[in-house]
Amino acid sequence: MTIELPALPWAEDALAPHLSAETIRYHYGKHHNAYVTKLNELIAGTEYAGQSLERIVKSAKGPIFNNAAQIWNHTFYWSSIKPAGGGKPSGAVADAIEKSFGGYDAFRKALVEAAITQFGSGWAWLVLDGEKLAVVKTPNAETPLTGSAKPLLTIDVWEHAYYIDYRNLRPKYVDAFLDKLVNWDFANQNL
Ligand code: FE
Repeated sequence: MTIELPALPWAEDALAPHLSAETIRYHYGKHHNAYVTKLNELIAGTEYAGQSLERIVKSAKGPIFNNAAQIWNHTFYWSSIKPAGGGKPSGAVADAIEKSFGGYDAFRKALVEAAITQFGSGWAWLVLDGEKLAVVKTPNAETPLTGSAKPLLTIDVWEHAYYIDYRNLRPKYVDAFLDKLVNWDFANQNL
């Protein structure tokens, strides 16, 4: 079984102007695709060939883990954003945010803080940890999938995610993610 690059859930120009078609072409077409190509090269003829992506992420180390986790994280990220997304959540996630953070504003502050302070490359996540929601950040390819918390949403804070549209201004990209792009339906499905 070959690991495949999953299709995007929307057209590559559908998130503009918040994320341009050029960003998506590079981020999905070059970066995400390269992790898929590399992983298939690395696992050929190993115990990982034929395993599901999730299983590889949960058991592999080193370059195989890095490429597999980056594939999984990116696929999760594409579903975490959508055209005409953003704003406050509704449904069960809204209630859980209220209970876990004391309100949307405190949650927003926590996610922005995590996304901005992740030094270098990585990810910020909203997760379900036991009975409560929490915000966590992970460096490089690290992912909550290897731990006990359940990921609900993620924002990619690698420079390749925002440099074309925002240059060095990661905080502006994080604001756009929260105010214009975040897909609360996906978080509700995962909860
Ligand atoms: Fe990325």
